[in-house]
Amino acid sequence: MMQGEATVVKNAGSHYLLSALPAWKPFPAVLRGKVRLKASEITNPIAVGDHVHYETGADGTTVITEILPRSNYVIRRSTNLSRQAHIIAANVDRAYLIVSLYFPEVKLPFLDRLLVTCEVYGIPATIVLSKTDLYREPAAEELAHFRAIYEGAGYQVIETSVRTGEGIDAIREACKGCVNLFSGESGVGKSSLIKALDPSLDPKIGVISAAHLQGKHTTSLYEMYPLASGGYVIDSPGLRGFGLVDLEKEEIARYFPEMLRVGADCRFTPCTHTHEPGCAVKAAVDAGLISPERYNSYLGMLEEDKKFR
Ligand code: GDP
Ligand code: ZN
Repeated sequence: MMQGEATVVKNAGSHYLLSALPAWKPFPAVLRGKVRLKASEITNPIAVGDHVHYETGADGTTVITEILPRSNYVIRRSTNLSRQAHIIAANVDRAYLIVSLYFPEVKLPFLDRLLVTCEVYGIPATIVLSKTDLYREPAAEELAHFRAIYEGAGYQVIETSVRTGEGIDAIREACKGCVNLFSGESGVGKSSLIKALDPSLDPKIGVISAAHLQGKHTTSLYEMYPLASGGYVIDSPGLRGFGLVDLEKEEIARYFPEMLRVGADCRFTPCTHTHEPGCAVKAAVDAGLISPERYNSYLGMLEEDKKFR
């Protein structure tokens, strides 16, 4: 019997592909019944990115025997209020949130919700502005404004274009040695970006051949791609795939890094940063230190939170 430790690189429903990273040699494995999680609200016990122990028996079947503790994971609920959740990726080093200023136009409250989600999960996020070759005057001003908002909040913003090659090397470099989650609404250029990072990849088809899973159900779903330049990519369909996280009203501001920084100075604790006197967050907004756009997104999330209660 052979034993080892490996990373889940593809989740194909009831079957998985593992590879002992950094070597890229995927092999099939199944899950032994008793490893299944008891937490009934999670519909899949193992996700792409999971580190596992396995055993290969005399009959050649590899069985996953243990799931090692996760540093983080991303879940998705079937609906906002659904109890049932699906883990889409685990042990992610960084999330790249791909948006475009114009094609399609990014809605800031939507981006802010995703950034909050990443903060809740404990996954560092980088914002990628795609298709910059299409930006024309007066785009420069809007671009500067966008950068001011998000760099001011503490996020890195990388401009990319697969036409001019702008930003591609920077992302390729940053991806080395890491598991990177790429997320973007359909049409934003996510597949093109992944292809530009490594021309041998085609996210629309998938890199791991179905031959590994012959005759098996291959409706899934999530997989990890190795980048020729180093590191791995997990392609997450649609930004909405992140789903909503359960947050108490008082908690939301903690996941806006720029609010967290000044929130300790509010006169009242907890402070919702709305009507309270001596609120340091509101003072920072008035002083131009926190962007009105981000603050607005925060207020929107507070409102929405009320709706669900
Ligand atoms: P996905 O749905 O996010 O995977 O988006 P795709 O990669 O399929 O790209 C959507 C459309 O945008 C396609 O027509 C691409 O050719 C186009 N596109 C993607 N990246 C760029 C870019 O950097 N510049 C320009 N001009 N078009 C792009
Ligand atoms: Zn406050």
